[in-house]
Amino acid sequence: MKDKKGKLIIISAPSGCGKSTIIGDIMDRGELDLQFSVSATNRKPRPGEVDGVNYHFLSDQQFNDLIAEGAFVEYEQVYPGRYYGTLKSELQNRVNEGHNVILDIDVKGGINVKKQFGSDAISIFIAPPGIEELRRRLKGRGSDSDEEIEQRVGRAEYELGYQQEYDHVIINDTLQDAIAEIERLMADFIGK
Ligand code: 5GP
Repeated sequence: MKDKKGKLIIISAPSGCGKSTIIGDIMDRGELDLQFSVSATNRKPRPGEVDGVNYHFLSDQQFNDLIAEGAFVEYEQVYPGRYYGTLKSELQNRVNEGHNVILDIDVKGGINVKKQFGSDAISIFIAPPGIEELRRRLKGRGSDSDEEIEQRVGRAEYELGYQQEYDHVIINDTLQDAIAEIERLMADFIGK
């Protein structure tokens, strides 16, 4: 075991802001010692998602049992009836072994974890250049109906209302610039 404990990197962003691409790119480059906190959820896997990799996919009953056991650092109902939570077991071992852990979680969860971990955590919010640009990007993905796009835009407006609570806000205007900026913030924070 290393003497130095790992740190937490909290990343939140509205859907369509490039969060998964940015996190994936930084992790693939492998410059920083980063591990991903796999959240638990009661939503169904999407095509291509793997249990234990993207999420721990649980039934409603399993999720409720873990709440009752006090197994979560935090959990939230992000969409009606859809719960997501960070398991203590995902953080404890990794941090104690000296690895830094990335948490991709919603705004309420992000603010909650930052409060609990204080200076052992950095919180980064990724914002779109504007709501119209976000709507254009979501349409361009071609994966959602008009109704779903408007739901996501509505949720994005709600999440943007919390950005000032984050340590850093990065606007993803140009993807490569956003990646470079976020990687630099992470490197400075974990002392590399
Ligand atoms: P999706 O269903 O698209 O994978 O994720 C929906 C939202 O849930 C995203 O904003 C994601 O950041 C958030 N989320 C994922 N895992 C967690 C978690 O463990 N806790 C909280 N509070 N939010 C999460």
